[in-house]
Amino acid sequence: MFLIFGFKSSDRRLAAPVLLCAYCGVTAAQVLVRRTTKFSLFFIPLFPVRAARHFTQCTNCANTRFVDAREAERLAV
Ligand SMILES: [Zn+2]
Repeated sequence: MFLIFGFKSSDRRLAAPVLLCAYCGVTAAQVLVRRTTKFSLFFIPLFPVRAARHFTQCTNCANTRFVDAREAERLAV
């Protein structure tokens, strides 16, 4: 008997507030994304193995910046 297991990350777009990008300096939409990593068994995601991480991605330069949960909650409103 053998087991096929691994980890699968999935992204979910939460919001896209228009903010000043810290990297390119242009005011553009910053897509807020929540990334969840789950343990999978036989390619079926079962349960999260780490806390969800949030990051923003600039629509002008595609630079990403990780944000903490508190800031992500503030940006998602
Ligand atoms: Zn940018």
